[in-house]
Amino acid sequence: MLVQQILKSKGDNGVLTIKTSTKVSEAAQILAERRIGGLVVSDDGESPDGILSERDIVRSLAVRGTGCMTESVEEMMTRNPVCCSRQDTSDAVLTRMTDGRFRHMPVVEDGKLVGIVTIGDVVKARLQELAMEKDALQGMIMGH
Ligand code: AMP
Repeated sequence: MLVQQILKSKGDNGVLTIKTSTKVSEAAQILAERRIGGLVVSDDGESPDGILSERDIVRSLAVRGTGCMTESVEEMMTRNPVCCSRQDTSDAVLTRMTDGRFRHMPVVEDGKLVGIVTIGDVVKARLQELAMEKDALQGMIMGH
């Protein structure tokens, strides 16, 4: 399955971004309200400058204490996130996520952000594919 099919199945709701100057506390609020685990950081709303995950916040809290919550996202985000394109396969994305040990990937076309896929989206797509393959194989074996 291609990334563009995953995006389509999620519905085209645009991509929520935050700016590098956003306070970490505000980003944490957005993560909690939206029940998501990561946010793309982009000052122009188009090209991804970084990515901020709930893990970044938890790690900073453990290492540096609650003071990190008043810092800007720029201090904490991962710069130059690994991105994928609409034409990438779910398999390729899953491999990159597993190798890089992260669960979010911005989707970029011509340098512009067009979506975000999570490991949950990709695993769901893979499971659907496997179920369809199983049905097709069963059909062949049963002679349908
Ligand atoms: P995650 O598993 O996505 O919550 O993130 C784990 C760590 O990887 C955090 O430090 C994130 O900032 C970082 N990270 C998340 N997504 C990406 C990505 N696409 N490229 C590079 N680093 C990432």
